[in-house]
Amino acid sequence: MNKEIRRLFCCMLPAMLGVFAQPATAALKVFACEPEWAALTQELAGDKASVFSATTALQDAHHIQAKPSLIARVRNADLVICTGAELEIGWLPPLMRQSGNANIQPGAPGYLEASQFVQKLEIPKVLDRSLGDIHPGGNPHIQLDPRNIAKVAQVLGERLAQLDPANAAAYRARTADFLARWDSAIGRWEHEAAPLKGLSIIVYHKDMAYLNNWLGLRDVGSLEPKPGVPPTTAHLADLVERMRAAPAKLIVYMSYNSPQAAEFLSERTRIPAVMLPFSVGGSDKAKDLFGLFDDIVARLLALRK
Ligand SMILES: [Zn+2]
Repeated sequence: MNKEIRRLFCCMLPAMLGVFAQPATAALKVFACEPEWAALTQELAGDKASVFSATTALQDAHHIQAKPSLIARVRNADLVICTGAELEIGWLPPLMRQSGNANIQPGAPGYLEASQFVQKLEIPKVLDRSLGDIHPGGNPHIQLDPRNIAKVAQVLGERLAQLDPANAAAYRARTADFLARWDSAIGRWEHEAAPLKGLSIIVYHKDMAYLNNWLGLRDVGSLEPKPGVPPTTAHLADLVERMRAAPAKLIVYMSYNSPQAAEFLSERTRIPAVMLPFSVGGSDKAKDLFGLFDDIVARLLALRK
C-alpha cells in the first residue's frame, strides 16, 4: 500500500466512527439530538452507555436532514434524549416514525424531552407565524442556563436507572456526584459573572434567553430581523443607526452562526463582537459541560467594556 493511501486509511477510520464513546460492554445505546444532552448522558452513565449525538455545536439544530444513518441510530437506541419544545420538529418526528422502534416513541420510557422539566421562557401569548419562526411551546434553547442542566440531570439519572436496573446504583451515584460538582461550579460562575449584570447585548438569534435570564444580560436587539430569518442588509443598516444612537456593549453570536453579520455591525459601530460556544464542542475549551460555561463566562468577561 502506498504511503498516501495508508495515511488516508489511518485517519479516516476514526473519523468514520465519529461517535462520542462506544465502550464494548456498554449496556445502553443513547441517541441525543444535541451535544449538550450527549455530554450530560456521558457524565451520568460513564462507560455504562454508548452515546451518539445527532448534531454538533457547529450545526443549527432547527434544520437538520433526516438522513438514513440517523434513522439507523434511532432504530437501535434504548433512549432518545432531545430538547423538545419543537426545536427538532423539522426532522425528529420522521426519524422516530421511520425507525420502527416502539421503545423510544413519545410516552415510552425510552424517550426524554429535556425542555419538559424546566420552566420555559418566551411562551408566546398569540401564535403569529408572520413574526418569524416562533416556537409555540416557548423558547427551546434551554441549555445555556446551567440550572436547567441540573434539573434535566436529575430526571435523566433516574431514567437511566429505570432503563438499565442492573446498573441503577451506578447511575444514581454518578448523578449525585455530578450534581454536587455542578452546584459548586454554578456558584463559581455566578460569582465570576457578577460584573456582567445589566450588560446590553445584540444577539444573533433568540437563543440566549436562558443565559440572559441567568446572568442578567439585556438583549436589546437581534441580527435576525425575525427569529429564524437570516440578517438582511436593510435590517443591519437599521441596527447600525440604532447602535450609533444607543450602543450596546457587545454583539454576541453562536458557534453555529456565520460571523459575517456580527462582524459587519461590529466594524461600523466599534462594538466588539464575540462568538460563544452554543454547546459542548462549540469551542476548543468547551470540551465538556463544565468547559462550556467556563468558556462562555470567560469570553463575555474578556470583551465587556
Ligand atoms: Zn430557535
